[in-house]
Amino acid sequence: MKIAILSRNAKLYSTVRLVEAAEARGHEVRVLDVLRCYMNITSHNPSIHYRGEALTGFDAVIPRIGASVTFYGTAVLRQFEMMNVMPLNESVAISRARDKLRSMQLLARKGIGLPVTGFASNPDDIADLIAQVGGAPLVIKLLQGTQGIGVVLAETHNAAESVIQAFMGLKANIMVQEFIKEAKGSDIRCFVIGDKVVAAMKRQGGEGEFRSNLHRGGSGSLVRLTPEERSTAVRAAKIMGLNVCGVDMLRSNHGSVIMEVNSSPGLQGIENVSGKDIAGLIIEFIEKRFESLETVTPKS
Ligand code: ADP
Ligand code: GLU
Repeated sequence: MKIAILSRNAKLYSTVRLVEAAEARGHEVRVLDVLRCYMNITSHNPSIHYRGEALTGFDAVIPRIGASVTFYGTAVLRQFEMMNVMPLNESVAISRARDKLRSMQLLARKGIGLPVTGFASNPDDIADLIAQVGGAPLVIKLLQGTQGIGVVLAETHNAAESVIQAFMGLKANIMVQEFIKEAKGSDIRCFVIGDKVVAAMKRQGGEGEFRSNLHRGGSGSLVRLTPEERSTAVRAAKIMGLNVCGVDMLRSNHGSVIMEVNSSPGLQGIENVSGKDIAGLIIEFIEKRFESLETVTPKS
């Protein structure tokens, strides 16, 4: 197959591993900087151009689109889709996952367990909002935050009120969430490919840190999932419409709850902890999916 990887940086661990895995399985791979892809979107015959050259002949595309380039990146991916290049994750599913509120609303509607979460815009509603999620301590999250930046733990009612007021004053969109103290600064990353959790790890925040993000100094270790956690992770991926994703959970007193579904999960932490060739499994998934699309008789 001829596979494109949309990535801003060919040297990133995940990108390097996907290139290695694809080449090891005999495919032709090309890493494309998504911001260097340009196109005439009104052309009858959709095409994508790259540094003066028309991109042709690709069978599949692996989007590794960072949160900061979601808008442009999903537009480029959509253009690949219109050229009948098979995406690992569809552009519409990535856009859906990048909207944390929308994702939680979709998951909640399908009965997936989530931390109790509220959303409001007017400062007059703050007291009621805090009460709705069960009072302090609580977690306040900037909707556009990533890698744990913009996630604040407010220990008291007064602290919660003033942090929420401050964010609202800055016109930032925030959500307010019950604090799952029982998780003890750890979360669980389930790596889903197709209808399977292929690996999982527990991430533990550094000393005195409630955020477990690896980017914030957290560390990963192997974890055994319950059958229920496995099936919840796979269901969440299905609901979001993502073929490959990282499903993040917190183990709470009321069962494991989903915090977030990540459409571009990193490979470094999970490969190191699990010792598995996750990049290889992703390429294998692409091969199988491509084959099954090929065998569908074309509509006349
Ligand atoms: P980001 O998307 O920026 O990584 P998250 O929502 O994943 O933000 O939160 C970052 C970390 O903070 C999580 O990995 C988890 O360890 C911790 N955390 C987030 N929400 C809660 C919560 N409601 N209760 C306890 N810990 C939380
Ligand atoms: N981009 C990384 C991932 O989704 C974030 C890892 C982290 O810092 O938690 O796997």
